[in-house]
Amino acid sequence: MTFAVPPSHPRYHSLVARHRIEDGVRLGITTPTGLVAHGRGEAFDYLLGERSHPFAVQACTAAAAALLCAAKPVLSINGNTAMLVAEEMISLGRTAGALLEINIFHDAPERRQKIAERFRSFGSEILGVVPDARLEGLSSDRAKVDSRGMLDADCVVVALEDGDRTEFLVRAGKQVIAVDLNPLSRTPQTAQISIIDNVQRAFPLLEKEIDRLRGQGRAAWEAILASYDNRSILRAAEEAIRNGLQALPEDAL
Ligand code: ATP
Repeated sequence: MTFAVPPSHPRYHSLVARHRIEDGVRLGITTPTGLVAHGRGEAFDYLLGERSHPFAVQACTAAAAALLCAAKPVLSINGNTAMLVAEEMISLGRTAGALLEINIFHDAPERRQKIAERFRSFGSEILGVVPDARLEGLSSDRAKVDSRGMLDADCVVVALEDGDRTEFLVRAGKQVIAVDLNPLSRTPQTAQISIIDNVQRAFPLLEKEIDRLRGQGRAAWEAILASYDNRSILRAAEEAIRNGLQALPEDAL
């Protein structure tokens, strides 16, 4: 699809992201409900000033430590992340030594194939094209997993995730790192590490943190995790959003 808005447009990045998601619907990768989820994220991002706050950086540091400690980390990919951050997630997967796996709420074999084709076009294989296992006890299609990936992963990175699966993954003993712009949503409330930021900023930031911490060694990574407090991160994010709302001129509301 041709996109005529010039880079100098003040809403350029936001408009490009919208068009990517719109393209995703046209390509059969994103569902129309993915558009709605994107819109909800945009509203929170607007209130956050569309920048990564210190609470997001702190959560990325903890997430980097968790990924470096993990024996089998997996990055979960859905229709929105496939369109918005495929290349960033491929790069993060390589840096973190993590596998990529498709996990979608509105399941269809052809959607999985199309997501896989997109990743292949960027030179990466992805798991979950034909799921061969289930997370027992979870009823939605999100229970379908790949026996080589999510099934026995010890650390899972999720974004735009539904709260049920997050709760399930945590109960199953996995460490869950969530990227979500809404600190009040069940996913970031349930995950052990919640990066309240836009996926387009958060994943490159997380990768940079892994590179920064890699040389420090396991004892340093474990110390970061031991002192990390996700509740205070969520409180700081909620406060930033409330402040963002108060800072808006009345005619913007
Ligand atoms: P839950 O079941 O966890 O309460 P939900 O119903 O609040 O989830 P969903 O619609 O399942 O939310 O998922 C969308 C979530 O992803 C929202 O919290 C939204 O703010 C967030 N989101 C949307 N776009 C982005 C983005 N680009 N980066 C990060 N988060 C995003």
